[in-house]
Amino acid sequence: MTSDLTDLIRTIPDFPKPGIQFRDITTLLADGEGLRDLTARLADIARPLDADLIVGIEARGFILGAALALALGKGFVPVRKKGKLPGKTVGIDYVLEYGTDRLELHEGQVPQGARVLLVDDLIATGGTAVAAAQLLREQGASVLMALFAIDLPELGGMAALEAEGIAARGIMT
Ligand code: 5GP
Repeated sequence: MTSDLTDLIRTIPDFPKPGIQFRDITTLLADGEGLRDLTARLADIARPLDADLIVGIEARGFILGAALALALGKGFVPVRKKGKLPGKTVGIDYVLEYGTDRLELHEGQVPQGARVLLVDDLIATGGTAVAAAQLLREQGASVLMALFAIDLPELGGMAALEAEGIAARGIMT
């Protein structure tokens, strides 16, 4: 099944800037069987962990995170980029290749002691996922696992998460 799913992903050269090979999952999302299979595979990994909440990272992590939350019958909480959430937020600043960015969460939406799963479409350097995991830990949550549709292993993201003591799995490379 992995190879079938991989066939549904396309690579767009030079997006969003020259030299970047962007892995585009919209083609997989548009395929009913592909989306169902990917969600089922994520759910098979996640189910035994019996998390309290699924936390998805903006923006494609919302799509896969919500699909996973539905499959598991769990609630979904979004982690968004700076200034997008309407209520009172808690946040974390993190360093990008050029400059910094900020991830935010609605205050109180991840309760102290919550056992959560973190979801995004892709892990590259791991900077985004590590920052999101740190934000969740600052709320007193434990991150049971970080789940991704795609892992780009040569960029070291999984290793960065594991260095933080966070288990991580990707469905495709
Ligand atoms: P990282 O922080 O691990 O370097 O980058 C991962 C974040 O950037 C994720 O939120 C992911 O959605 C986005 N991202 C980076 N490169 C790609 C790509 O090639 N394809 C997709 N779909 N997302 C990417």
